[in-house]
Amino acid sequence: MKTALVTGASRGIGAAIARTLKREGFKVYINYNQSHDKAAALAKELSALAVKADVSDMNEVQHMYDEIGGVDVLVCNAGISEYGLFSDMSHEAWQKLFAVNVDGAYNCIQCALPHMIGQKNGAIINISSVWGLCGASCEAAYSASKSALIGLSLALAKELGPSGIRVNCIAPGVIETDMLSSFTEADKEALRCETPLGRLGRPSDIAELCAFLASDKADFITGQVIASDGGFAL
Ligand code: NAP
Repeated sequence: MKTALVTGASRGIGAAIARTLKREGFKVYINYNQSHDKAAALAKELSALAVKADVSDMNEVQHMYDEIGGVDVLVCNAGISEYGLFSDMSHEAWQKLFAVNVDGAYNCIQCALPHMIGQKNGAIINISSVWGLCGASCEAAYSASKSALIGLSLALAKELGPSGIRVNCIAPGVIETDMLSSFTEADKEALRCETPLGRLGRPSDIAELCAFLASDKADFITGQVIASDGGFAL
């Protein structure tokens, strides 16, 4: 049975990805940081293992891999956002965001590679954002961090292809999760109206794409950045 580690799987998009990969026959590992109860409930539902690690901390990530071993599929989904003027953003807040969104991917991919390279097979899926493609006003750090994931994915697709490892990136549009909790209903309605397909995204929209990229059906696909955004970024 193939194994998959989903980071930030206690809630939102990551939880949907974990459910979908389980449905597709993977043995799933649910990484979480703060939401212990939610991760434990999901682990029970999926007969999976929940593993705590702050992805920004290499020691914690290393301990997580010590517990679960190597994986066939890694989904770097854990992420945080920050809304506000760039000129008001402290360097500390900038670094914290990059520590989770970018260093988190570095840490998790570094630890996944020895096993994947050893077996000459693996799939890495990084969850970026449409903002990483087109930039968002008042989300400069978030946009920059998500662009970094795109560059990382493209470069690693080239570097790791000869080792049989595929690296792809998903760029979700506006997806209804806790990440939108600071948005008012009016904000969300405005975003819905800006979306050609006329609705906000659901976590399952991203999860189904992720499951496809993780599967053998996507065996010849690497180095791609696929937006699932209802046409929002067009
Ligand atoms: P969410 O509902 O806020 O969930 C975030 C998840 O990330 C939680 O499971 C959280 O775990 C985890 N996380 C945060 N910091 C972590 C850390 N240091 N270590 C480990 N896990 C950590 O967000 P979401 O909307 O599902 O977003 C998931 C991914 O999609 C993010 O990378 C986000 O940038 C991206 N995305 C979201 C949208 C959107 O509109 N929602 C759009 C584009 C891209 P704990 O609660 O356990 O700490």
